[in-house]
Amino acid sequence: MLSPTPGAAPPPLRPDSVTARFPPGGRGRAFAAASEAEWNDWRWQQRNRLTSIDALERAVTVTPDERRAFAESNAMFHMGITPYYAALMDPEDPACPVRRQAVPSLGELTLTPADMLDPLAEERDMPVPGITHRYPDRVLFYTTHNCPVYCRHCTRKRKVADPTSAAARAQIEGGLAYIAAHPEVRDIVVSGGDPLSLSDERLDELLGRLRAIPHVEVLRLGTRNLVTLPQRVTEDLLKIVRRYHPVFVNTHFNHPKECTREAFEACRRVADAGCPIGNQMVLLKGVNDDPQIVKELNQKLLLMRVRPYYIYQCDLAQGISHFRTPVEVGLRIIEALRGHTSGLAVPHFVIDAPNGGGKVPLMPEYVVAHEGKTWTLRNYAGKQFVYEEP
Ligand code: SF4
Repeated sequence: MLSPTPGAAPPPLRPDSVTARFPPGGRGRAFAAASEAEWNDWRWQQRNRLTSIDALERAVTVTPDERRAFAESNAMFHMGITPYYAALMDPEDPACPVRRQAVPSLGELTLTPADMLDPLAEERDMPVPGITHRYPDRVLFYTTHNCPVYCRHCTRKRKVADPTSAAARAQIEGGLAYIAAHPEVRDIVVSGGDPLSLSDERLDELLGRLRAIPHVEVLRLGTRNLVTLPQRVTEDLLKIVRRYHPVFVNTHFNHPKECTREAFEACRRVADAGCPIGNQMVLLKGVNDDPQIVKELNQKLLLMRVRPYYIYQCDLAQGISHFRTPVEVGLRIIEALRGHTSGLAVPHFVIDAPNGGGKVPLMPEYVVAHEGKTWTLRNYAGKQFVYEEP
Protein backbone atom coordinates (compact mmCIF):
# COMPACT_ATOMS: atom_id res chain seq x y z
CA MET A 1 0.00 0.00 0.00
CA LEU A 2 1.33 3.48 -0.87
CA SER A 3 1.92 5.79 2.06
CA PRO A 4 0.54 9.26 1.61
CA THR A 5 3.12 12.01 1.20
CA PRO A 6 3.25 14.10 4.37
CA GLY A 7 1.34 17.34 3.87
CA ALA A 8 -0.22 16.15 0.61
CA ALA A 9 -3.87 16.94 -0.06
CA PRO A 10 -6.23 14.03 0.66
CA PRO A 11 -7.19 11.98 -2.41
CA PRO A 12 -10.29 13.32 -4.18
CA LEU A 13 -13.52 11.57 -3.26
CA ARG A 14 -14.86 9.21 -5.88
CA PRO A 15 -18.05 10.48 -7.53
CA ASP A 16 -19.89 7.44 -6.19
CA SER A 17 -18.65 8.01 -2.63
CA VAL A 18 -20.93 8.58 0.31
CA THR A 19 -20.52 12.34 -0.10
CA ALA A 20 -22.97 12.32 -2.99
CA ARG A 21 -25.72 11.24 -0.61
CA PHE A 22 -25.51 14.54 1.25
CA PRO A 23 -26.96 17.43 -0.75
CA PRO A 24 -25.71 20.95 0.03
CA GLY A 25 -28.04 22.88 2.32
CA GLY A 26 -28.58 25.82 -0.07
CA ARG A 27 -28.97 29.50 0.78
CA GLY A 28 -32.72 29.81 1.27
CA ARG A 29 -34.69 32.76 0.09
CA ALA A 30 -33.32 35.30 2.60
CA PHE A 31 -29.63 34.94 1.80
CA ALA A 32 -29.53 34.13 -1.90
CA ALA A 33 -27.23 37.11 -2.46
CA ALA A 34 -24.64 36.11 0.16
CA SER A 35 -21.19 35.57 -1.31
CA GLU A 36 -19.39 32.27 -0.96
CA ALA A 37 -16.91 33.87 1.42
CA GLU A 38 -19.67 35.31 3.60
CA TRP A 39 -21.64 32.08 3.70
CA ASN A 40 -18.63 30.04 4.74
CA ASP A 41 -17.56 32.49 7.45
CA TRP A 42 -18.96 31.43 10.84
CA ARG A 43 -18.69 34.95 12.19
CA TRP A 44 -20.79 36.25 9.28
CA GLN A 45 -23.31 33.52 10.07
CA GLN A 46 -23.36 34.61 13.73
CA ARG A 47 -23.74 38.29 12.85
CA ASN A 48 -26.61 37.58 10.48
CA ARG A 49 -28.68 35.35 12.74
CA LEU A 50 -32.42 35.82 12.51
CA THR A 51 -33.47 37.39 15.78
CA SER A 52 -36.48 39.51 14.77
CA ILE A 53 -39.83 38.79 13.19
CA ASP A 54 -38.86 40.94 10.18
CA ALA A 55 -35.77 38.86 9.58
CA LEU A 56 -37.79 35.68 9.96
CA GLU A 57 -40.32 37.04 7.43
CA ARG A 58 -37.56 37.26 4.84
CA ALA A 59 -36.71 33.59 5.32
CA VAL A 60 -40.16 31.99 5.62
CA THR A 61 -43.83 32.87 5.28
CA VAL A 62 -44.59 33.49 8.95
CA THR A 63 -47.98 32.24 10.13
CA PRO A 64 -50.17 34.29 12.51
CA ASP A 65 -49.53 31.68 15.23
CA GLU A 66 -45.76 31.95 14.81
CA ARG A 67 -46.00 35.74 14.92
CA ARG A 68 -47.95 35.64 18.17
CA ALA A 69 -45.68 32.98 19.66
CA PHE A 70 -42.63 35.11 18.85
CA ALA A 71 -44.18 38.23 20.37
CA GLU A 72 -45.12 36.44 23.59
CA SER A 73 -42.07 34.21 24.05
CA ASN A 74 -39.14 36.33 22.92
CA ALA A 75 -38.64 38.08 26.24
CA MET A 76 -38.42 34.70 28.02
CA PHE A 77 -36.39 32.79 25.45
CA HIS A 78 -34.94 34.59 22.46
CA MET A 79 -35.17 33.43 18.90
CA GLY A 80 -31.82 33.02 17.15
CA ILE A 81 -31.36 31.15 13.86
CA THR A 82 -28.23 31.07 11.70
CA PRO A 83 -28.73 31.80 7.98
CA TYR A 84 -27.43 28.27 7.32
CA TYR A 85 -30.06 26.62 9.55
CA ALA A 86 -32.78 28.99 8.31
CA ALA A 87 -32.06 27.83 4.76
CA LEU A 88 -32.96 24.27 5.80
CA MET A 89 -36.45 25.36 6.86
CA ASP A 90 -39.37 24.87 4.49
CA PRO A 91 -40.49 28.49 3.88
CA GLU A 92 -44.11 27.47 3.34
CA ASP A 93 -44.59 24.67 5.87
CA PRO A 94 -44.76 25.54 9.58
CA ALA A 95 -44.68 21.80 10.35
CA CYS A 96 -41.21 21.48 8.79
CA PRO A 97 -39.08 19.55 11.34
CA VAL A 98 -36.25 22.07 11.15
CA ARG A 99 -38.60 25.03 11.47
CA ARG A 100 -40.35 23.48 14.47
CA GLN A 101 -37.01 23.30 16.30
CA ALA A 102 -36.07 26.93 15.66
CA VAL A 103 -39.20 29.09 15.25
CA PRO A 104 -41.38 29.84 18.31
CA SER A 105 -44.76 28.12 18.38
CA LEU A 106 -47.87 28.62 20.49
CA GLY A 107 -47.18 25.43 22.45
CA GLU A 108 -44.41 27.29 24.26
CA LEU A 109 -46.91 29.60 25.89
CA THR A 110 -48.64 26.73 27.69
CA LEU A 111 -47.34 25.75 31.10
CA THR A 112 -48.51 22.41 32.44
CA PRO A 113 -48.51 21.30 36.09
CA ALA A 114 -45.68 18.88 35.23
CA ASP A 115 -43.38 21.62 33.89
CA MET A 116 -40.29 22.48 35.88
CA LEU A 117 -37.85 25.37 35.62
CA ASP A 118 -34.82 23.13 36.18
CA PRO A 119 -36.11 19.60 35.53
CA LEU A 120 -32.73 17.92 35.93
CA ALA A 121 -31.88 19.82 39.13
CA GLU A 122 -28.65 21.01 37.54
CA GLU A 123 -28.58 24.15 39.67
CA ARG A 124 -29.13 22.20 42.89
CA ASP A 125 -26.16 19.90 42.18
CA MET A 126 -23.81 22.87 41.74
CA PRO A 127 -21.04 22.93 44.32
CA VAL A 128 -19.75 26.16 42.72
CA PRO A 129 -21.49 28.31 40.09
CA GLY A 130 -21.14 26.82 36.63
CA ILE A 131 -20.25 23.24 37.64
CA THR A 132 -22.81 20.44 37.97
CA HIS A 133 -21.24 17.52 39.82
CA ARG A 134 -23.72 14.68 39.97
CA TYR A 135 -21.91 11.50 38.98
CA PRO A 136 -18.81 10.30 40.84
CA ASP A 137 -16.09 10.96 38.28
CA ARG A 138 -17.37 13.60 35.89
CA VAL A 139 -18.72 17.13 35.85
CA LEU A 140 -20.63 19.41 33.52
CA PHE A 141 -18.90 22.75 33.02
CA TYR A 142 -21.02 25.70 31.78
CA THR A 143 -18.85 28.02 29.77
CA THR A 144 -21.23 30.31 27.86
CA HIS A 145 -24.92 31.13 27.55
CA ASN A 146 -24.75 31.51 23.74
CA CYS A 147 -25.75 29.09 20.97
CA PRO A 148 -25.92 29.71 17.21
CA VAL A 149 -29.54 28.54 17.18
CA TYR A 150 -31.75 28.62 20.24
CA CYS A 151 -33.56 25.30 20.11
CA ARG A 152 -37.18 25.68 21.09
CA HIS A 153 -36.96 22.40 23.03
CA CYS A 154 -33.87 23.40 25.06
CA THR A 155 -33.80 21.94 28.55
CA ARG A 156 -31.77 24.94 29.78
CA LYS A 157 -34.20 27.60 28.62
CA ARG A 158 -33.96 29.04 32.11
CA LYS A 159 -30.47 30.35 31.38
CA VAL A 160 -29.44 29.75 27.76
CA ALA A 161 -29.76 32.96 25.69
CA ASP A 162 -29.98 35.04 28.88
CA PRO A 163 -27.06 37.48 29.10
CA THR A 164 -27.42 37.68 32.88
CA SER A 165 -26.50 33.97 33.04
CA ALA A 166 -23.27 34.42 31.06
CA ALA A 167 -20.29 32.64 32.55
CA ALA A 168 -18.06 35.51 33.69
CA ARG A 169 -14.31 35.11 34.06
CA ALA A 170 -14.64 34.66 37.85
CA GLN A 171 -17.10 31.80 37.35
CA ILE A 172 -14.80 30.03 34.90
CA GLU A 173 -11.89 30.43 37.33
CA GLY A 174 -14.07 29.03 40.12
CA GLY A 175 -14.95 26.02 37.97
CA LEU A 176 -11.33 25.34 37.09
CA ALA A 177 -10.34 25.62 40.75
CA TYR A 178 -13.10 23.17 41.74
CA ILE A 179 -11.97 20.60 39.18
CA ALA A 180 -8.32 21.01 40.19
CA ALA A 181 -9.29 20.43 43.84
CA HIS A 182 -11.25 17.22 43.10
CA PRO A 183 -8.95 14.40 42.00
CA GLU A 184 -11.92 12.07 41.48
CA VAL A 185 -13.03 14.14 38.48
CA ARG A 186 -11.52 12.57 35.39
CA ASP A 187 -14.08 13.50 32.71
CA ILE A 188 -15.26 17.04 31.89
CA VAL A 189 -18.28 17.79 29.71
CA VAL A 190 -17.62 21.31 28.42
CA SER A 191 -21.08 22.68 27.81
CA GLY A 192 -23.23 25.80 27.95
CA GLY A 193 -24.95 27.07 25.83
CA ASP A 194 -22.57 25.91 23.17
CA PRO A 195 -18.84 26.03 23.94
CA LEU A 196 -18.01 26.55 20.26
CA SER A 197 -19.67 29.96 20.64
CA LEU A 198 -16.48 30.92 22.49
CA SER A 199 -13.69 32.50 20.47
CA ASP A 200 -10.79 30.27 19.45
CA GLU A 201 -8.58 32.07 21.95
CA ARG A 202 -10.91 31.47 24.89
CA LEU A 203 -11.51 27.86 23.93
CA ASP A 204 -7.78 27.27 23.58
CA GLU A 205 -7.15 28.70 27.01
CA LEU A 206 -10.00 26.76 28.61
CA LEU A 207 -9.06 23.39 27.11
CA GLY A 208 -5.38 24.05 27.85
CA ARG A 209 -6.10 24.80 31.51
CA LEU A 210 -8.27 21.72 31.84
CA ARG A 211 -5.69 19.51 30.16
CA ALA A 212 -3.01 20.85 32.52
CA ILE A 213 -4.90 19.40 35.53
CA PRO A 214 -3.13 16.07 36.09
CA HIS A 215 -6.20 13.97 37.01
CA VAL A 216 -8.35 15.17 34.09
CA GLU A 217 -8.43 12.39 31.49
CA VAL A 218 -11.30 12.93 29.07
CA LEU A 219 -12.60 16.20 27.64
CA ARG A 220 -15.99 16.27 25.96
CA LEU A 221 -17.34 19.15 23.93
CA GLY A 222 -21.15 19.31 23.92
CA THR A 223 -21.92 21.24 20.76
CA ARG A 224 -24.73 21.65 18.26
CA ASN A 225 -22.55 23.68 15.89
CA LEU A 226 -22.12 20.65 13.62
CA VAL A 227 -25.88 20.85 13.03
CA THR A 228 -26.63 24.56 13.16
CA LEU A 229 -23.35 26.21 12.16
CA PRO A 230 -20.99 23.71 10.50
CA GLN A 231 -18.91 26.62 9.19
CA ARG A 232 -17.56 26.90 12.76
CA VAL A 233 -15.35 23.87 12.12
CA THR A 234 -12.34 25.76 10.80
CA GLU A 235 -8.76 24.55 10.51
CA ASP A 236 -7.82 26.93 13.36
CA LEU A 237 -10.42 25.33 15.62
CA LEU A 238 -9.23 21.83 14.76
CA LYS A 239 -5.62 22.78 15.46
CA ILE A 240 -6.70 23.75 18.97
CA VAL A 241 -8.72 20.60 19.54
CA ARG A 242 -5.88 18.35 18.35
CA ARG A 243 -3.64 19.75 21.08
CA TYR A 244 -5.79 18.45 23.94
CA HIS A 245 -6.74 14.88 23.09
CA PRO A 246 -8.56 12.78 24.06
CA VAL A 247 -11.37 15.16 23.09
CA PHE A 248 -14.77 13.63 22.41
CA VAL A 249 -17.59 15.55 20.72
CA ASN A 250 -21.26 15.11 21.61
CA THR A 251 -23.64 16.63 19.13
CA HIS A 252 -27.39 16.85 18.61
CA PHE A 253 -28.87 15.95 15.22
CA ASN A 254 -32.62 15.39 15.42
CA HIS A 255 -33.75 14.87 11.83
CA PRO A 256 -32.29 13.58 8.53
CA LYS A 257 -32.95 17.00 6.95
CA GLU A 258 -30.09 18.30 9.09
CA CYS A 259 -27.65 15.88 7.44
CA THR A 260 -26.42 18.19 4.68
CA ARG A 261 -23.17 18.28 2.73
CA GLU A 262 -21.95 21.06 5.05
CA ALA A 263 -22.71 19.01 8.17
CA PHE A 264 -21.13 15.95 6.56
CA GLU A 265 -17.93 17.88 5.86
CA ALA A 266 -17.84 19.37 9.36
CA CYS A 267 -18.21 15.93 10.94
CA ARG A 268 -15.59 14.47 8.61
CA ARG A 269 -13.10 17.15 9.63
CA VAL A 270 -13.82 16.72 13.34
CA ALA A 271 -13.47 12.93 13.01
CA ASP A 272 -10.26 13.34 10.99
CA ALA A 273 -8.95 15.55 13.81
CA GLY A 274 -9.26 12.50 16.06
CA CYS A 275 -12.50 13.20 17.94
CA PRO A 276 -15.01 10.38 18.28
CA ILE A 277 -18.45 11.95 17.70
CA GLY A 278 -21.63 10.79 19.44
CA ASN A 279 -25.15 11.99 18.73
CA GLN A 280 -27.70 12.79 21.42
CA MET A 281 -31.10 13.00 19.77
CA VAL A 282 -34.07 14.38 21.68
CA LEU A 283 -37.37 12.71 20.95
CA LEU A 284 -39.70 15.47 19.71
CA LYS A 285 -43.33 15.20 18.67
CA GLY A 286 -43.75 16.23 15.05
CA VAL A 287 -40.01 16.14 14.42
CA ASN A 288 -38.68 12.63 14.91
CA ASP A 289 -41.32 10.57 16.77
CA ASP A 290 -41.33 8.01 13.98
CA PRO A 291 -39.13 4.89 13.72
CA GLN A 292 -38.52 5.38 9.99
CA ILE A 293 -37.24 8.92 10.51
CA VAL A 294 -34.92 7.84 13.32
CA LYS A 295 -33.65 4.90 11.28
CA GLU A 296 -32.89 7.16 8.33
CA LEU A 297 -31.23 9.69 10.63
CA ASN A 298 -29.06 7.12 12.38
CA GLN A 299 -27.98 5.45 9.15
CA LYS A 300 -26.99 8.86 7.76
CA LEU A 301 -25.12 9.68 10.95
CA LEU A 302 -23.03 6.55 10.61
CA LEU A 303 -22.09 7.63 7.09
CA MET A 304 -21.03 10.92 8.67
CA ARG A 305 -18.91 8.97 11.21
CA VAL A 306 -21.23 10.01 14.03
CA ARG A 307 -22.31 7.24 16.41
CA PRO A 308 -25.94 7.47 17.57
CA TYR A 309 -25.39 7.51 21.33
CA TYR A 310 -28.58 8.54 23.13
CA ILE A 311 -32.23 9.14 22.41
CA TYR A 312 -33.53 11.33 25.21
CA GLN A 313 -37.11 11.38 26.32
CA CYS A 314 -38.09 15.06 26.02
CA ASP A 315 -37.79 16.34 29.58
CA LEU A 316 -40.07 18.41 31.79
CA ALA A 317 -38.63 21.86 31.09
CA GLN A 318 -41.15 24.68 30.96
CA GLY A 319 -42.90 25.46 27.70
CA ILE A 320 -41.90 22.33 25.81
CA SER A 321 -44.89 20.10 26.61
CA HIS A 322 -46.02 20.29 22.97
CA PHE A 323 -42.86 18.34 22.03
CA ARG A 324 -43.30 15.54 24.57
CA THR A 325 -44.24 12.04 23.46
CA PRO A 326 -45.42 9.05 25.51
CA VAL A 327 -42.53 6.87 26.72
CA GLU A 328 -43.86 4.03 24.54
CA VAL A 329 -42.86 6.00 21.44
CA GLY A 330 -39.18 5.77 22.40
CA LEU A 331 -39.51 2.07 23.18
CA ARG A 332 -41.20 1.48 19.81
CA ILE A 333 -38.35 3.26 18.06
CA ILE A 334 -35.72 1.09 19.77
CA GLU A 335 -37.77 -2.00 18.95
CA ALA A 336 -37.89 -0.94 15.30
CA LEU A 337 -34.11 -0.42 15.20
CA ARG A 338 -32.73 -3.36 17.18
CA GLY A 339 -32.06 -6.23 14.79
CA HIS A 340 -33.56 -4.35 11.85
CA THR A 341 -30.44 -2.29 11.26
CA SER A 342 -26.85 -2.52 12.39
CA GLY A 343 -26.26 -2.34 16.13
CA LEU A 344 -24.08 0.73 15.55
CA ALA A 345 -27.25 2.60 14.60
CA VAL A 346 -29.06 1.67 17.82
CA PRO A 347 -28.58 4.23 20.60
CA HIS A 348 -29.64 4.00 24.24
CA PHE A 349 -33.09 5.36 24.96
CA VAL A 350 -32.90 7.20 28.27
CA ILE A 351 -35.04 9.27 30.57
CA ASP A 352 -33.03 11.87 32.42
CA ALA A 353 -34.85 11.36 35.68
CA PRO A 354 -36.45 14.48 37.17
CA ASN A 355 -34.85 16.09 40.21
CA GLY A 356 -31.36 14.93 39.38
CA GLY A 357 -31.90 11.17 39.21
CA GLY A 358 -29.56 10.93 36.22
CA LYS A 359 -29.95 8.99 32.99
CA VAL A 360 -32.00 5.81 33.25
CA PRO A 361 -31.93 3.50 30.20
CA LEU A 362 -35.15 1.91 28.95
CA MET A 363 -35.31 -1.17 26.75
CA PRO A 364 -38.13 -3.14 25.16
CA GLU A 365 -38.58 -6.46 26.98
CA TYR A 366 -36.87 -9.37 25.23
CA VAL A 367 -37.20 -11.85 28.11
CA VAL A 368 -40.51 -13.72 27.66
CA ALA A 369 -40.11 -15.95 30.72
CA HIS A 370 -37.40 -16.85 33.21
CA GLU A 371 -37.40 -19.74 35.63
CA GLY A 372 -34.29 -20.98 37.36
CA LYS A 373 -31.69 -21.46 34.67
CA THR A 374 -34.19 -21.37 31.82
CA TRP A 375 -34.63 -18.18 29.90
CA THR A 376 -37.25 -17.83 27.20
CA LEU A 377 -36.25 -15.01 24.91
CA ARG A 378 -37.71 -13.40 21.84
CA ASN A 379 -35.59 -12.03 19.03
CA TYR A 380 -36.13 -8.88 16.96
CA ALA A 381 -38.48 -10.78 14.61
CA GLY A 382 -40.67 -12.04 17.46
CA LYS A 383 -39.44 -15.66 17.34
CA GLN A 384 -38.92 -17.35 20.68
CA PHE A 385 -35.82 -19.23 21.78
CA VAL A 386 -34.89 -20.97 24.99
CA TYR A 387 -31.47 -20.47 26.54
CA GLU A 388 -30.47 -22.94 29.24
CA GLU A 389 -27.67 -21.70 31.43
CA PRO A 390 -24.98 -24.38 31.40
S1 SF4 B 1 -27.72 24.04 21.30
FE1 SF4 B 1 -28.15 22.92 23.20
S2 SF4 B 1 -27.94 24.45 24.84
FE2 SF4 B 1 -28.13 25.57 22.90
S3 SF4 B 1 -30.31 26.02 22.71
FE3 SF4 B 1 -29.93 24.11 21.59
S4 SF4 B 1 -30.36 22.50 23.09
FE4 SF4 B 1 -30.11 24.43 24.25
